[in-house]
Amino acid sequence: MTTAIYWFRNDLRLNDNLAFTKVCKAADFVLPIYIDNTTIAVDTPPSYPQISKSRRAFLYESLQDLTNKLKGLGSNLLVFQDDYRQVFPILREHLNTNIVYCEQIEALEELDQVAWLNEAGFSIKSFWQSSMLDPRSLPFELEDMPGVFTQFRLKVEKHKLKFASPLDTPLKISSLPPLSGTLKQSINLDAPLCEKSFYGGESKGLAHIEQYFERRLVDKYKRTRNELIGIDYSSKFSPWLALGCCSPRTIAKRLAEYEHQFGSNEGTYWLWFELLWRDYFRFLSFKNENIPSPHSYSSEVLRDELDRDFQSMKFKRWSAGCTGDSFVDAGIRELLSTGYLSNRMRQVVASYWIYNLEGNWAAGAAWFCSQLLDYDVYSNQGNWQYIAGKGADHQGGRQFNIAKQTQDHDPEGIYRKIWST
Ligand SMILES: Cc1cc2nc3c(=O)[nH]c(=O)nc-3n(C[C@H](O)[C@H](O)[C@H](O)COP(=O)(O)OP(=O)(O)OC[C@H]3O[C@@H](n4cnc5c(N)ncnc54)[C@H](O)[C@@H]3O)c2cc1C
Repeated sequence: MTTAIYWFRNDLRLNDNLAFTKVCKAADFVLPIYIDNTTIAVDTPPSYPQISKSRRAFLYESLQDLTNKLKGLGSNLLVFQDDYRQVFPILREHLNTNIVYCEQIEALEELDQVAWLNEAGFSIKSFWQSSMLDPRSLPFELEDMPGVFTQFRLKVEKHKLKFASPLDTPLKISSLPPLSGTLKQSINLDAPLCEKSFYGGESKGLAHIEQYFERRLVDKYKRTRNELIGIDYSSKFSPWLALGCCSPRTIAKRLAEYEHQFGSNEGTYWLWFELLWRDYFRFLSFKNENIPSPHSYSSEVLRDELDRDFQSMKFKRWSAGCTGDSFVDAGIRELLSTGYLSNRMRQVVASYWIYNLEGNWAAGAAWFCSQLLDYDVYSNQGNWQYIAGKGADHQGGRQFNIAKQTQDHDPEGIYRKIWST
């Protein structure tokens, strides 16, 4: 009889979850776990919490939904709020297994975790499952990823690359191993109360995707995607994608069905185009130096530099929405209140931090990590670098003229009025 641990990471779903499907086929007993390390002390600057209230609420709702789904299938989810270096040895002792299945994440902190587990004698089986396209289907080696998105897209389009069909929820979930009373989850998953428009979890995410297509909002996506106010101007798929409550292949499949039914149009093409950007930033991680998480600094010098930024008045003013520029401040206040910000406003506030305030892009990226419901290590880093003119496809960076952006996107001042306090 084989026993294994399934370590949920950014794949909080049962549908289209390759790694979880594999463990259910391979092991008779499986213990599903999640490790919430967002309250563990890290080299976090003292000026802001590592994760905002709304981000924590979305995470906990997602964990609750996953727990309910697993319970419905005769299993469960144990959530630990501890250092993974403490959790895994305890589990090994209790379960008498060193086999761990999980999703593959190509970012520095997550790779370090897997390296530590390997060192500690665990047998890790990790599977890539967070992109729309399968990286192995690309018509070039991953090390030869084009440094410019357009070249990547043209190659994908030339070879008519398609996503593989999403997997169903496994029909049979392996039983829980016998657990003694001492092995209990260490946290209560009651989501903190806060005002919000987004509710976490696979069930809510799938329902949101369905509604988006049923309401045919995709038809006007290209026209509206740069707007700032409301829910419908863009898909709002990102929070569920970031925690893996829904897979990008599930969205791609729904998009393909939609095109089959109603025909393709510029809206459907642009939604696919943006999902391809998401893949692009992921695939770059196979080629470039591994992406550091915002709080794992690559050098002492960078750490000192960022700490200086975090302590500075300019950072305190920017991250509180008190710079004095009403458009930038409105964007920051929206982010602080909701955990979400349109792509346009992310560009505006990031550009202001980098160019107007001369802040380090990595400090801005780290703060976004604490606030964004849809925080995603690949997309956050990729976009900040793109604006700062670093990394791949930077084309010299993108400095936005804030006065022009204000005039173009909020000529009547409605957005600024909504977020004025
Ligand atoms: C400074 C900065 C930081 C960002 N940080 C993140 C982040 O941490 N997590 C994140 O998911 N996105 C990030 N983005 C990208 C983008 O702003 C969001 O994905 C998008 O606004 C989410 O809203 P939506 O789901 O309605 O997007 P839509 O416009 O409806 O797009 C559909 C999907 O395509 C993907 N997508 C769209 N634009 C981009 C993009 N520029 N880069 C990568 N993928 C994209 C997302 O998965 C999105 O859900 C960042 C952008 C900037 C400028």
